Parts: sequence; C-alpha cells; structure tokens
Amino acid sequence: MLRSDVVSLDKRHLWHPYTAADEFALIDPLVVARAQGARLYDADGRSYLDGNAQWWVAGLGHNHPRLIAALKQQADRFCHVSLAGVTHEPAAHLAEELVAIAPAGLSRAFFSDDGSTAIECALKMAVQFWQQSGQSKKQRFVALDGAFHGETLGATSLGGVEIFRRPYAGLLFDCLRARPPYDESSFAETFAALSSLLKTANNQIAALVLEPLVQGANGMRIYAPKFLQAARALCNEHDVLLIVDEVFTGLGRTGKMWACEHAAIAPDILCSAKALGGGLLPFAATLATERIFDAFRGDRSRMFYYGHSFGGNPLGAAVAREMLRVFADEKILDGITERSDRIAHTFSALGNISGTSRPRALGMIGAIDLPSANGYHSSIGWRVFEEAKKRGAYLRPLGDVVYVTPALNIPLSDLGELLQIVRESVISAAG
Ligand SMILES: *Cc1c(COP(=O)(O)O)cnc(C)c1O
Repeated sequence: MLRSDVVSLDKRHLWHPYTAADEFALIDPLVVARAQGARLYDADGRSYLDGNAQWWVAGLGHNHPRLIAALKQQADRFCHVSLAGVTHEPAAHLAEELVAIAPAGLSRAFFSDDGSTAIECALKMAVQFWQQSGQSKKQRFVALDGAFHGETLGATSLGGVEIFRRPYAGLLFDCLRARPPYDESSFAETFAALSSLLKTANNQIAALVLEPLVQGANGMRIYAPKFLQAARALCNEHDVLLIVDEVFTGLGRTGKMWACEHAAIAPDILCSAKALGGGLLPFAATLATERIFDAFRGDRSRMFYYGHSFGGNPLGAAVAREMLRVFADEKILDGITERSDRIAHTFSALGNISGTSRPRALGMIGAIDLPSANGYHSSIGWRVFEEAKKRGAYLRPLGDVVYVTPALNIPLSDLGELLQIVRESVISAAG
C-alpha cells in the first residue's frame, strides 16, 4: 500500500487521541512502517529518534529481539486463557517475579490491561478492603493537584489536570485534594495540609493515591522524595492506604526500578503498566500486600468483584517476564547513570535560553517549560515538534512542556543525536 493511501484512509476514518481534528487534517503525519531500538522509520524510509518511547511504553526500545522471540514462542503454545479459575505458567511466574522486585511487603499481583485499569482495580480493591474490614465508611480518595491516573472515569476522577477533567466534570466522583511540594520552600506547607486532611477525614478516606516523585502527564513535574516519606508516615498514622501509581515512573524510568525506592518507602498497593508490556502489548499489574489480600478471604461473598477479559493475558505475561530478564541481563539500571547525566546536562543548559524555564531531569526524564499563556493549548511545543521532525526526531510535547523520555537503553550515540536535536529545535522555536 502506498504511503499516500494510508494517509488518506486515516484522514477519512481514524480518530486520534489527544489530537485536534482540524489541525491534524492539515498535516502530513509520520507514517510508521518499522521501528527498531530507539528509532521509528517512516514509510518513505526516513528515520526518527523516538523522544518519548511512544508514550513511555517502549522502555527497552522497539522490537527488542528477545521480546519478539518470547512473544512468538508463547503465541505458538497458546495466546489466551482467562485467569477465571484456571492458571498458566507465564502469569504464575510473572506474579512471583514481580513481587520479588517490588517494594517490600507487596506479595500479590492482580493483572489487567493498561494503566487506567490498574488504577481502577486499585480503587475498587481499596474500597472493598475497608468494607470487608468493618470500615465501610472509608470510601473516599485523596489525590494530588496535577495528578494523572488514566482515562477511565475512576481514574479521571482522581486526575488533577483541570483541562483533562473539564468535559466530564459532571460525571466524576469527588476527591479530596492535596498539593505536592513542587519546590523545596513549599514542603512545610504541603505537609501540614496533607497532615490535617488525613487527621480530620481519615474515617472516610480509603486511600491516598499519588504518582511517586514525577507527575508525568502534568508536564513532568518533579517533587521531593521526602514528601513521599511524609505521605507514607501520615498514612500509617491515620490508617489510610497508600496507592502509588508507578505506571509511568516504574521499571527504571527514574533511574531506580521503582520511584518509591528514592524515598525508601513501600506502598500498600502499587500500579504498574506501560513499560511492563515491553512496548509490545498492553499489560498491567496491581500489586497488593498480604494484609489487603487477607480481607478477601472467607466465603464467596468476599471475593474481589473485578476482572477484565484479557487480564493476565499469556502473551503479555510472557513478554513481561522476558522484559524483566533482559532488564537484569543487560544491566539496564547501570546504563542509566551515564545516560541520565547527559540528559540532565542538556536540559540544564537549555535553561539558559531565553523563553525557557524550570529545566528539570530525573533518571531517563528531561523536561523544560516554554511558558505560554495558552498552557496545554500553546503552539510553542508543536513548533519544537516540527523543528525536531525536520531534524529526524519525534518529540511530542505536553502543551508548552518539551521533554524526552527515551528508551532506557537508547544507544549513547542515538542519545547524543537526540539531545542535539532537542537543543537545536528549542533554540529555533523559542529564540
Ligand atoms: C499513562 C498513565 C496512566 C494510564 O495508563 P494507560 O495505559 O494509558 O491507561 C496512569 N497513570 C499514569 C501515571 C500514567 O502515566
């Protein structure tokens, strides 16, 4: 099929996520025909460095040969059975392997499809846990300003990015709100606010839900690990569950396996997705402690009333297992040290360009603001995108935030090239 046929069919029938229809109608999009490692290849043969690992899923780059082999091997055996009263090797082993690397105390894995379902699962798990522990009033959630936890209504209710909530506001359940300390000086104030909230409302609160350390979709906003430690301590003090959403931050993105490790804390429930499926398949896990699981023991009425058709899909589980093995064999975390230094150095230098602010970096994340009155609807990020595309990189912005979240194992030469393109594109668009 011709490239132009793909584009014209797309424009007639496809509906794109987070994409302005009339704007998209005017552009000639990237038509990906192949992807390998840190690069996407257009149908016309040009290559593009993948600046965001395709919305943060391709942690080990595209088409890692070992992940493709694991997928094929499992496909030859069987592609799907549900975990409804049966089990299979990929799911059982993956559950064991995930709890082995998870923060201390997480001992049970519930599998679903994506980040949003991992969150929905955590919310229902928390509420039913309290119900079956004799505290049925504990049904509310505390979520952070600027939070993003996914697209389903429960996850959107937790969300604190106003622009993503607005069209659906009438449908969302009401959350209690806390503010993370985006800068050092606001720690005392944010801590006091969270503390008094949990103190006064703990008999209604099922859980505090947060993205540990980095709020991804909120424009890569980073806050201090000591807020996580404070959150853990306050949750303990007031008997509130702590749910951490590691859908973006988990599996090495921040330079440690889990962002929680930067604060040496463990949650009661942890959500993982995105890179868990190796960038090949949607796959998610909600990990919980034995304390939570125990509340679901007993007669049939106490079962967890939750499960998606494809939960624990054998193909996804087999790929996730191989992803973890590659992670260990290729010493992915060790390789991040040098890469993250380069990212931090580049973004810090970008902060000297006029029209930029708040350069920041953590692990395999680098971001900078190109402040604009239009915020998320600003066109400056898209100008950087176009400049980067001309130079051979895919650099989708988050509104007026330009960022990179490349594959954790991006070859150093590719990373150098990507960062050079980021530099030139920001200068060209902002200057
Ligand atoms: C992307 C994301 C989600 C939602 O995951 P999907 O797979 O898109 O449903 C949830 N939480 C965080 C922190 C995310 O970054």
